[in-house]
Amino acid sequence: MIASETSVRINGHEFTQLLSSTKIRRIVQRMGREISEHYKDVKTLHIVVVLSGAAVFAMDLIRELSVPCRLHFIRASSYSGTMNSNGQPEFDIPEMDMQGEHVLVLEDLIDTGTTIIELTKRLKTWRAASLRIAALLAKPEVMSTDVSLAFCGLTIPPVFVVGYGMDFGEMGRELPHIYQLHIAMNEEKQWE
Ligand code: 5GP
Ligand code: MG
Repeated sequence: MIASETSVRINGHEFTQLLSSTKIRRIVQRMGREISEHYKDVKTLHIVVVLSGAAVFAMDLIRELSVPCRLHFIRASSYSGTMNSNGQPEFDIPEMDMQGEHVLVLEDLIDTGTTIIELTKRLKTWRAASLRIAALLAKPEVMSTDVSLAFCGLTIPPVFVVGYGMDFGEMGRELPHIYQLHIAMNEEKQWE
């Protein structure tokens, strides 16, 4: 992997910068304020981090919150090293009784929405008083209308991205900026 601030090359694929770490920080700070305001009267906010992609976002976001929170981690995998979702997300969900509690699920990115829709269905068994979703990024052009996103950092076009926790074949998660797959002119033609 060869990385610079403006571009990164992973396994022969060229990515160009979409969001700088400075811009990401501003977005995360704004989300932190919105979430804190929304849950200001809540005693404890139960944060569910969808691993692995949302881990970096979640650890930055919780430090912007002024509401006490507890952390829960759920592993979800649907991309298995490729650039397309295989449509069959798998989860490892602990059994919990969250009656009367408020749950906020943190996702790095909502693409088609399949993962979050399936996860939300499964989390209903926790019987929480409220269950909301916050995502750093969303791709509204491809996202199912069944997704109800309570907090969204930024909407982006349906491009494949890496960095800030998000991977391409388990690579690139440590990058501080977010990069998008660079499509060369001749490749673009083939995709039309
Ligand atoms: P969905 O089920 O909404 O189609 O896909 C959501 C999951 O796939 C997210 O948890 C996210 O981690 C991953 N994902 C979606 N789009 C991208 C992308 O552009 N880049 C990477 N690295 N992961 C993505
Ligand atoms: Mg994810």
